[in-house]
Amino acid sequence: MPELPDLIVYKQYSDATSLHQRIKTVDVDDDTVLRDLSVPHFRETLTGRNFESSERYGKNLLVELEDGPWVRFHFGMTGRLLYYKNNGEFPRFTRILIRFSNGYELAYTCIRKLGRISLTKSVEQFIKYEGLGPDALQLNLSDFKDLLSVRRGSLKTTLMNQKIIAGLGNVYVDEILFQARLDPSVKCKALDDKKLGDLFKTMREVLKTASDNQADPNKFPKNYLTKHRSEGEPCHRCSGLIEKRIISQRPTYVCPKC
Ligand SMILES: [Zn+2]
Repeated sequence: MPELPDLIVYKQYSDATSLHQRIKTVDVDDDTVLRDLSVPHFRETLTGRNFESSERYGKNLLVELEDGPWVRFHFGMTGRLLYYKNNGEFPRFTRILIRFSNGYELAYTCIRKLGRISLTKSVEQFIKYEGLGPDALQLNLSDFKDLLSVRRGSLKTTLMNQKIIAGLGNVYVDEILFQARLDPSVKCKALDDKKLGDLFKTMREVLKTASDNQADPNKFPKNYLTKHRSEGEPCHRCSGLIEKRIISQRPTYVCPKC
């Protein structure tokens, strides 16, 4: 599932390919990904305009239209963007297809259709409307401590909650807690000031390492959990075996030893 580091990569990709290109036509192949938005309104709003700039917030990519609103892309479990030269075919699972006047196309693909596309007047309005917490990389240490120290839930549940901190999901929360050597089922309130500080530092390190490596688990350091997310795999940090647990209905991978 695309999480904060993936979104950094998606933003770089979208900036490098799709900014400042005139949008010629928009095809909506499946309108289930459009939120609070009709197909005609979406097409009319984009057609004839350029994408001017973009911002990432949490797991969302927001792209500003010239003299218009922002298009928000959320990628659900399986969403992607693909930019390519029009050759009469389009990628499998394309839900939205944006054709530029330079002959290239941008496809929003989503196998499981859990992604969402909407329009918003501004990034601030979008954050408010969705009730999102601060972005995990914009948050400072003191706000992080304030947010977590009052939560009753487990570390895993709390860190995954977009209304508390935006950007982390199942995979990166497991990695952060593995690197911080913290049990995902431990309650936030049980962490003292030093442990909260260490967790904050580890969160930033993991997100930076992941995005520096194009969010590709195969390029992650050897001692990272992400590429060994399966039960019974040897832990690359100790002699333990990776265990699967279900925490807040999500598969959670831990090394019980470390
Ligand atoms: Zn271990």
